[in-house]
Amino acid sequence: MNGYLESIIKSFDIKLYHKNILLWYDAEKRDLPWRKTTDIYKIWISEVMLQQTQVAKVTAYYSAFLKVFPTVKHLAEAHLDDVLKIWEGLGYYARARNLYNAAQFIVKNKKGDIPATFAELLEIPGIGEYTAAAIASIASNEPRAVVDGNVTRVICRLFKIEESTHLAATRREISDTARQILFKDRAGDYNQAVMELGATLCTPQKPKCLLCPVEKQCSAYQNTENPARLPMKQKAKKVPHHDVAVGILWDEGHIFIAKREMGGVLGGMWDFPGFRFEKKDTPQKVLERELKNTYNFDAEAAEFIMEINHAYSHFKMTFHVFHCLYKNGEPPLNAAVDWNWARPAELKFYPFAAANKKIIQKLENEFVHANNRQ
Ligand code: SF4
Repeated sequence: MNGYLESIIKSFDIKLYHKNILLWYDAEKRDLPWRKTTDIYKIWISEVMLQQTQVAKVTAYYSAFLKVFPTVKHLAEAHLDDVLKIWEGLGYYARARNLYNAAQFIVKNKKGDIPATFAELLEIPGIGEYTAAAIASIASNEPRAVVDGNVTRVICRLFKIEESTHLAATRREISDTARQILFKDRAGDYNQAVMELGATLCTPQKPKCLLCPVEKQCSAYQNTENPARLPMKQKAKKVPHHDVAVGILWDEGHIFIAKREMGGVLGGMWDFPGFRFEKKDTPQKVLERELKNTYNFDAEAAEFIMEINHAYSHFKMTFHVFHCLYKNGEPPLNAAVDWNWARPAELKFYPFAAANKKIIQKLENEFVHANNRQ
């Protein structure tokens, strides 16, 4: 830890900090469903859903998920497609796949008992340090500091850490600091209090410092004009953009869909055939060529349907969607993990990534029109 940070932590009144942040949390914390339970399974589900996702979005998914999979056993015995279907729209689908694999591991190797300690949780495939620390501290009050984006922001401002959080050394300092200022007697509540502060008052833009319970101890607030300039990040890189030709391939009222490989952000989700292309190509040409190359289909890209812009975490895509008419051909066995021909009304039973939702909606709306194509 650098000398500046060490000296600022030494002079930090940690007792006052703990008292103020916990008094504030006890009085002001939001009424969230996962805060009303001590069930470790439910705490685990909420922690995984909350990663990189807004609370407002998680609330509805949390209840729906627990209704269908109320215990780890229900989750382990489910079909992965059904888990991904419930997760549909929440994004970062690797989280759902990891949850599912972990549930199967727990049922097989731990008789369905989810361990409550950090060390044991880490032994479960798919549970990383962040999730293990969150579950162990919240469910069994184990003194483990949790560091997510909200905690990082609060710590950078409290201690006026001005080095870029893109540097591993800065991230280590933030983790060390989080450990040093953890309130061990109520580790779970304390972790949630810091995350709550970051989510509600110490927000990325326009932090509400006048309402903050620890503003008198906040170095950024006391010593800089604008705490919002912290944490320091590198200049955002230009986000890459890709064009994708998407084929809604029809054969006798059915649409061809394929399942993605398990790895990657969207692994295990279903998709319409889609192919990236460069500006020198047209989406129609690409669709006809790649439907043949990938799936051995002879088809005609017949009619433009819509264009959709979608932003992922590290890139953006424009989908150029076309109705395509099947002529002949059978996909080779290795063309996809799985595929199917589905009626438009059946598409809603498959887990699709968010970008496809608008297409499915449009296809459902045009169902009568679609029937005329048969
Ligand atoms: S005073 Fe402002 S910048 Fe500092 S922790 Fe509170 S809300 Fe964040």
